Amino acid sequence: MARFPREVRATLDRLADQTVGGTNVCPVHHVALSTQSVDMVYGLLRPTRPEPMPDLRAREFPYAAKWVAAGCMVGESYPKKAKVLQCVKCLIDQEAWYVAHPK
Ligand SMILES: [Zn+2]
Repeated sequence: MARFPREVRATLDRLADQTVGGTNVCPVHHVALSTQSVDMVYGLLRPTRPEPMPDLRAREFPYAAKWVAAGCMVGESYPKKAKVLQCVKCLIDQEAWYVAHPK
């Protein structure tokens, strides 16, 4: 089995559980966050639609992750699922953004 740098593993572990050490209330909408399990997506990602800029995402819907970009390296033992925090209002705002920004 291939060995990979410890830093890659540490980064993946951090991505795989984004519920530790954070808040449990959305700072934008002031509603309770829920823990959800989402896919970790590996490989080169090609956007198929316009995506909000990271700063806009952080400002308006910081807790709307439906999947996690895990990087280009793929390994058998890499985590497949990530625990993330979601805010129902962030998810609604994110969907509204996508609807307002079609291709
Ligand atoms: Zn929110």
